[in-house]
Amino acid sequence: GRTTAAQAALLEDDDMNPYTGKPFSAQYKAILAKRKQLPVHKQRQEFLDLVQKDDQFLVLVGETGSGKTTQIPQFLLFDEQPQRQGKMIACTQPRRVAAMSVAKRVAEELDVQLGEEVGYTIRFDDNTGPKTVLKYMTDGMLLREAMTDPQLSRYSTIILDEAHERTVATDILMGLIKQITKTRKDLRIVVMSATLDSARFQSYFGIETTTVDAATGREVTATRDAPLLTIPGRTYPVEILYTQEPQESYLSSAVNAVMQIHQHEGEGDILCFLTGEDEIEDACRQVRARVGELMAADRSLPDLRALPLYSSLPVPQQQKIFMPPPGPRTPGGPPGRKVIFSTNIAETSLTIDGVVYVIDPGFCKQKVYNPRSRVESLLVSPISQASCNQRAGRAGRTRPGKCFRLFPESAFKSLIPQTIPEMQRSNLAATILQMFKVGIKDFVHFDFLDAPAPETLMRAFEMLNYLGAISDEGELTKVGMAMSEFPLDPQLTKALLMGPEYGCSEEMLTIVAMLSSPMCFVRPPDQRMEADRAKAKFDHEDGDHLTLCVVYNEALKHMGRNAKSDRGDGGDQGKQWDKDFFWQNYLNERSLRNAMRVRSQLSSILERCGYELNSVGEDLQTVKASRAIRRAITAGFFMQVAHLQQPVRKGNYMTVKDEQVVRIHPSSCMKHHPEWIVYHEFVMTPDFYARTVSPIEGKWLLSTKTNDYFDLATFREGPMRRELTQLVHLAQAEKASKARMKESDRK
Ligand code: ADP
Ligand code: MG
Repeated sequence: GRTTAAQAALLEDDDMNPYTGKPFSAQYKAILAKRKQLPVHKQRQEFLDLVQKDDQFLVLVGETGSGKTTQIPQFLLFDEQPQRQGKMIACTQPRRVAAMSVAKRVAEELDVQLGEEVGYTIRFDDNTGPKTVLKYMTDGMLLREAMTDPQLSRYSTIILDEAHERTVATDILMGLIKQITKTRKDLRIVVMSATLDSARFQSYFGIETTTVDAATGREVTATRDAPLLTIPGRTYPVEILYTQEPQESYLSSAVNAVMQIHQHEGEGDILCFLTGEDEIEDACRQVRARVGELMAADRSLPDLRALPLYSSLPVPQQQKIFMPPPGPRTPGGPPGRKVIFSTNIAETSLTIDGVVYVIDPGFCKQKVYNPRSRVESLLVSPISQASCNQRAGRAGRTRPGKCFRLFPESAFKSLIPQTIPEMQRSNLAATILQMFKVGIKDFVHFDFLDAPAPETLMRAFEMLNYLGAISDEGELTKVGMAMSEFPLDPQLTKALLMGPEYGCSEEMLTIVAMLSSPMCFVRPPDQRMEADRAKAKFDHEDGDHLTLCVVYNEALKHMGRNAKSDRGDGGDQGKQWDKDFFWQNYLNERSLRNAMRVRSQLSSILERCGYELNSVGEDLQTVKASRAIRRAITAGFFMQVAHLQQPVRKGNYMTVKDEQVVRIHPSSCMKHHPEWIVYHEFVMTPDFYARTVSPIEGKWLLSTKTNDYFDLATFREGPMRRELTQLVHLAQAEKASKARMKESDRK
């Protein structure tokens, strides 16, 4: 049936919660009053009118903070009552933090328990239940669901939120859902975006109509754009200020700017954009220290609370950004304020009320991919003008604000106007594997909003072929099938799947889980020596991968086996843990707990795919254990090996194929320089480093499993080819001598 905004209001203003059958709480009513002030609220009827029309698609554009993410799914929930057909509404988010945080907020808004009617699903963490009707999820998880449910039949409506972010997963979902709607006429799609370039979405989701021209009798096909709803935000003017000169260190200028604002500007909170966890924690520490000093010297200076916001922060800590700023220190004195140091999350995904000052250094961490060298890395890079403007907009939500750009105006003019879609700067191997599984095989003709570069596509296919996931004929192999089941990067999955073959599945599960969790070693800037000494106790002679396994096994002895998730709801559980162990050893308990959870999920997928769970035994120090594990890793990461260069003392390595000079990252436990290494990550900071490194034997590279990649014919004349030729000769000589020995044995 068609409902109206007035009917919804009646239900919302009632005393009984229709979901729980209990009376609404006081908190519910307080939040409801606030929700009614949001710009989307005024257009609820307009939204319903549009969405109830025959068009399957609706494009919705609204300023950040206008209430799209929190309210629109609820509008739909009241209108279509998906629970009656046993269906759900999905709302995708490019960022996991946003999915978790918004789900929590909306559960509060509806006065229900998070994980019951309203839940979230992100990689390795499914917080939904049988009663769930509204599910916030990362776009990657919805794409993953499409692998087993190609019609996405569990959903009555899918909301693709933050479409302007143009992540790979959202882009693919857009194309996929466009296909699905051809057969599923009952599926509704709302595409939400924070920027005004909606015309492309409208025409992409347009409907083809065929009419017969009366005069000529010919069929005429035309495309009608998808309908659009625009939500005018209420924004106040934001004054933009630039620095005179380029800044040497944006981190220290950012901290200085925060202190300046706190001492000299009027009331209002501060939002400062930085690029990652370390930087953010560092900035918080610096501000806390400086404010502490100032407050001790000046009793009239109000408090300034520094808060971090980044993706690996647990939910309860994330939620602190929504708490009101500290009050005045003296009765009648000026109120305190908060400063939030955040990654790009706060650009459009999360809105913090009360922000009047924005500090924008002009950088963020971005995926950068070079298809030629196959290197994908997260790089701190300049943002686009569009991003700068979004950031500035965060300052004018409640009243006129100021945005301090930590670069000169001339630098702004040289930035690219729009961010390049992620599709065009990523390694697409994992994505292609997923698309295969969903049933999309023709990538050349797939209806992409922006097609990836042919070279990027080709490289991705090539990589999957080397990994044995796709046959030479372009079909998904048995290994490829299994690989697509894991929510991991294909190389990592391959290494994991080789575990059983080398007799070390248990150890590989541990290592892969550790590599998929935030780094477990803590290294506070003022206690580096102590931290390094603590870490050294875990070091395994044969490299960082084995070290991760040692740490995990050691930590396991100090944590309850049925440890609760990372959601912060396992309060009591935590007590059984030996907190001191983590503290004294400079280990991040949260990241180890996370690894445990990831490991158990990977383990069940491995078993489900029919792989054997075997182990090298308790002792990781044996030659047998160390070799098995390093061989399995090499079987997945043979495209990431490097060879030691002369002179040895310099410690320079050269990567295979693209011949990039790289050094072992200082965080590595390896203090010697083995001839060949395999590495997990290639980082540019701005020097080139291989991070998480293990020594390997050159001849492993020539085993049948990696033969194709190391086919000498594919190498250009040069040092690496000479090196490999030598390896081949050695291997041949060894084989010949073995044969001779056998021959003489027989005689
Ligand atoms: P949009 O998606 O249009 O950017 P949202 O729906 O995310 O807007 O946000 C609407 C409002 O809800 C904002 O004012 C925001 O501050 C508020 N809000 C969202 N999450 C929370 C939370 N966890 N606690 C308090 N307020 C929140
Ligand atoms: Mg939003």
